Amino acid sequence: MGDHVHVRLSQGLGVSEEGELVEYSRCRCGATWTKTYEVTGGEPDRPDW
Ligand SMILES: [Zn+2]
Repeated sequence: MGDHVHVRLSQGLGVSEEGELVEYSRCRCGATWTKTYEVTGGEPDRPDW
């Protein structure tokens, strides 16, 4: 039963109190992850419209 391979399903994005981008994801087994992207530097990347 220990060979379950987690499948991370994105649950959305948020912003921490520090202004970091946080991605929430979870597996159908109930495991959850939070991945933080440190936003360093001045300007964030923007799409080239
Ligand atoms: Zn899992």
